[in-house]
Amino acid sequence: MQYADLLIHSAHMMATMKGLSESPARGEGMSQIGLLEDGAVAIREGKIVAVGTTTEVLAGGWVGPETKQISAKGRVVTPGFVDPHTHVLYAGSRENELSLKLKGVPYLEILKQGGGIHSTVRSTKQATDEEIKAQTSRRLQTMLSLGTTTAEVKSGYGLTIEEEMRSLRLIRELGSEQVMDLVPTFMGAHAVPPSYSEEEFTNYVIEDMLPKIAAQGIAEFCDVFCEPGVFSVDSSERILVKAKQLKFKLKIHADELTKAAGGAELAAKLGVISADHLLQASDEGISALAKQGVIAVLLPATSFNLAKNSYARARTMINAGVPVALATDSNPGSSPTESMPLVLTLACLYLRLTPEEALTAATINAAHAIGRANQVGSLEVGKQGDVLILDIPNLNYLPYHFGSNPVDTVIKRGKVAIRGINVPN
Ligand SMILES: [Zn+2]
Repeated sequence: MQYADLLIHSAHMMATMKGLSESPARGEGMSQIGLLEDGAVAIREGKIVAVGTTTEVLAGGWVGPETKQISAKGRVVTPGFVDPHTHVLYAGSRENELSLKLKGVPYLEILKQGGGIHSTVRSTKQATDEEIKAQTSRRLQTMLSLGTTTAEVKSGYGLTIEEEMRSLRLIRELGSEQVMDLVPTFMGAHAVPPSYSEEEFTNYVIEDMLPKIAAQGIAEFCDVFCEPGVFSVDSSERILVKAKQLKFKLKIHADELTKAAGGAELAAKLGVISADHLLQASDEGISALAKQGVIAVLLPATSFNLAKNSYARARTMINAGVPVALATDSNPGSSPTESMPLVLTLACLYLRLTPEEALTAATINAAHAIGRANQVGSLEVGKQGDVLILDIPNLNYLPYHFGSNPVDTVIKRGKVAIRGINVPN
């Protein structure tokens, strides 16, 4: 008998998210979180080998003299959070823009004045590789401590072929050097640099950037900021069509700021894996997303931070059958946070998700949104041993008690990455 390396047992509640690895949860399926009482999970060589009640897992004979055991008595156990939309690779910060925002200056105006993304492009360009990696590592460590075990990371603060390739190389290096799994996305079409017209820069992305990035094999997804005044629906379509030809998987920032601008419709037309933001998506756009099975990645921390009292219509999306996922959108301008627990709270308060739906959206549906649902996002035999022990008495407590960290212990690939002080052994 081969014994488990690690056994987590006696969880008051364990959400397994079982049975959702083939396709993302939709509608009422988003409430089916595979809940177990007195749950246990056994991990060997980084992979889950048994899941069930503590009695069932112990009866399976997985526990030997070498098996490390952690009690989760009185606590909640979930899969590690998956954050499927971040811009965490950059240097510098933009706290100076907060005062402009408080005066009501719109983001697109800040962008025109050379602020916003352009400011981070400058500070990132001026930083050395080591500086960018050191600053990003700190953010990744914060994410991990808040329960994120897998994250997507976009380029897009380079906006030249050299700088975009440097960003993607640094994402790859960070992915191999620290604990979390990182999924790299090329987002050269994040903003139009001041020296280009939209058409000129779109052509540059299509003709120069995409073929070179594809040849290097350093990005899995291609993403575009589809927004009137940035990249129009037509420009976005040209970029994504080319990316698809070059075998990138597709994402799109769609319908964030302008009402019914057609981003959701384009997402459905191209069959992208996820359409993100969607605050202003039209009814037709939402229906089209549902029909195509495009995952809506919703970013309530961005809405919260932009302080516009405008949130995506998540209930309409869920009722229409759109699979919904949640992400931080962690970035130095519109969402300077690493916290998935905060996102879960905001999703319940402002997107009107139930705690069960929010958990589905932050784990297995998020894993689908980055093409990792066969590896992470649920506690099932064969999957990676990415597990959280939350220092909360029940699942409702997770969105309820906000602003502090509910995560006690983080296990990544069966190894204890963050060990809380409160878990009894
Ligand atoms: Zn974004």
